[in-house]
Amino acid sequence: MGNVILIRFGELYLKGKNKNFFENKLKDNIRHKLDGLDCKLYFGRGRYVVKEYDANKECEILRRLGMVFGLHSVSVARRCGYEFDEIVRLALEMVPDTGSFRVSAHRSYKKYPLDSMQINRRLGECILDNKPSLSVDLHKPDYTLYVDVREDGDVYLYDKTIPCAGGMPYGTAGKGLLLLSGGIDSPVAGYMIGKRGAELVALHFHSFPYTSPAAKEKVVDLAKILCDFCPTIKLHAVSLTKIQEAIHEKCKPNYMITLVRRFMMRIAERVAYENSCGCIINGESLGQVASQTMESINSTNAVVSLPVFRPLIGMDKDEIIAIAEKIGTFKKSIEPYEDCCTVFLPEFPLIKPEIAKVEEQENLIGNIDTLIDEAINGIELIDLSI
Ligand code: ATP
Ligand code: MG
Repeated sequence: MGNVILIRFGELYLKGKNKNFFENKLKDNIRHKLDGLDCKLYFGRGRYVVKEYDANKECEILRRLGMVFGLHSVSVARRCGYEFDEIVRLALEMVPDTGSFRVSAHRSYKKYPLDSMQINRRLGECILDNKPSLSVDLHKPDYTLYVDVREDGDVYLYDKTIPCAGGMPYGTAGKGLLLLSGGIDSPVAGYMIGKRGAELVALHFHSFPYTSPAAKEKVVDLAKILCDFCPTIKLHAVSLTKIQEAIHEKCKPNYMITLVRRFMMRIAERVAYENSCGCIINGESLGQVASQTMESINSTNAVVSLPVFRPLIGMDKDEIIAIAEKIGTFKKSIEPYEDCCTVFLPEFPLIKPEIAKVEEQENLIGNIDTLIDEAINGIELIDLSI
């Protein structure tokens, strides 16, 4: 009999009456992820199983399942029938010849003549009879053989559990607007909120022709990597050029970043409302740069009423990089590029902006609403759905 892949899901059991909603979404997401891999999916209570797949595609199936939010872990299991001799034969093929071991049985088919303790003991004895160099260690064994007696006539044996992404099924927690730059942080911020179930819509600011089309392409590539986990991202690209030129012309140079970021937030809020997003997400981390001090964050927050989620706020750069490497965005993020924030960069950006003074500078610009309308009218929509 061919191998099967056992799929365990995580926190869903906490969801009481809404559990079906979460499970249905999770099933859809798994189906979508395994699309084209020619396998059968069985959705049981508490556990799902992938069956009848091509052995050559096993690694790819595991890789893809590892990217489905809401899954806790997977195991490749070998399969046999209920006959105890058959279970023993398969166990002997799997268990090593030396070292310590234990058997850990689980019996979801309650009518099976042996309960799990009896399976542990009888199977353990048969293994020891055939492999006398082995010893039993119930607490810290070198090897554990897991035995799962299923209701459908199958018994699964496995010895490894591969962790998956965890979190909640994608698409079960509303929508969030991700401010996606070409840097390291914002893709990680999107991943973290996507992992909690929120669907992502992405917004990127560029300053063409000060920033190159290649810089925008890089963001498209990053969004595509994020799509491995968050499969329905719509990427909006918007130009900040006119806004930056207006600020450059009319305001004090050291207010540049603060003022640009307030425009970014206002545009983000408009795009968020247009896309039914309940929050704005960014990759800020407290104190990382001048625009991420508490005062700077307050001055940008002040122009929006939607909640702003900053999942990286308490993280160090190396912690953020570790996640970026894990999800595959790091290599792309460190490719050289110009960000719109580097255009007209002041020598001494404000570290602790005072909102009253910021507003004073902003008033010098005059036509804020027109500038925002123009930027929004020029939005380019890039659909990355896969
Ligand atoms: P990142 O590595 O994500 O670029 P950063 O450390 O460079 O972050 P900032 O440039 O201050 O920090 O940006 C803070 C956050 O603002 C980013 O994480 C991102 O969410 C948003 N942001 C910055 N630049 C852009 C941009 N060009 N387009 C969209 N969002 C942006
Ligand atoms: Mg950046």
